[in-house]
Amino acid sequence: MQIAPFNIPLQAIEDSVTDRYGVHLFVLRTDLNHPHISGNKLFKLRYNLLEAQRSNIKTLLTFGGAYSNHIAATAAAGKEYGYKTIGIIRGEEYPELNPTLQFAVSCGMRLHYVSRNLYRNKGELYNYVNGVFGEENFYLVPEGGNNFLGVKGCKEITSYITTDFDIVCCACGTGATMAGITLSLKAGQSAIGFQILKGQGYIKKEIERWIHNERVVNKNFVEPIWHINEDYHFGKYARIRPELVSFVEEFNQNNATPLDYVYTGKMMFGIYDLIKRDFFKGGRRIVAIHTGGLQGNAGFGNRLLSSGKQ
Ligand SMILES: *Cc1c(COP(=O)(O)O)cnc(C)c1O
Repeated sequence: MQIAPFNIPLQAIEDSVTDRYGVHLFVLRTDLNHPHISGNKLFKLRYNLLEAQRSNIKTLLTFGGAYSNHIAATAAAGKEYGYKTIGIIRGEEYPELNPTLQFAVSCGMRLHYVSRNLYRNKGELYNYVNGVFGEENFYLVPEGGNNFLGVKGCKEITSYITTDFDIVCCACGTGATMAGITLSLKAGQSAIGFQILKGQGYIKKEIERWIHNERVVNKNFVEPIWHINEDYHFGKYARIRPELVSFVEEFNQNNATPLDYVYTGKMMFGIYDLIKRDFFKGGRRIVAIHTGGLQGNAGFGNRLLSSGKQ
């Protein structure tokens, strides 16, 4: 199974804001690494797929919400690399599948819905899943691909940055991507993670935990410089705010770079706001990681239309 290396362009962004404030901004387009297993999800799945193969397990089982990029990516990875896939979906089943779940099913993923209550309690959820699917000898990938092998894959993201940089930025959901990036920094570099969910300090704790794990096993460990920004989550996961929507549209018009509304749009909104506040005085070469997520925009359009407002 040959998965990496990927073809990932580094794109320079130059517009009136970067000019005026004298920053050098780049976007690492990991969203272009694969048409369907896009962005950080392929980095997180990579070593998990190799481990499933090594253990001779033919079925992947994972978890996610109905619009989850990780569900879509795991379904596509199963199809591409020859695994059966099972998706445990949070919440009730609707008569019509949304675009994400339609795609997952088209890749051969079997969907199984569980209540939000059950989903919340990971111990109970894992017991339940073992009860239902235990005979199938599945390889369990946690929600968001957030495990040791997921973080290991994300340590490779910065190796695709082909320019010298001071600061690398990424959006954080579970924190696995940020953990991998932080643990791969070299002297003089730092990382900023943009937390896109409300919940004070939860990403910071996750990153601290991953760093601690590394510190205890790595004799040559050097403390990385990193920071979690909690100012740009827009109140709630996947909340649509007009200023975010117009920023994403404008950014795409100016730079021919589509962003998603849930993760990379918020990160880039935050980066631009910080540039305008002259936050990047100490390090002016910034690389923003485009972690993908564009498949989710289809469902977003539907939700905007069906709710009529928000
Ligand atoms: C899943 C996802 C993230 C969050 O990654 P974590 O490793 O869970 O923090 C960020 N951006 C996009 C586009 C995603 O799909």
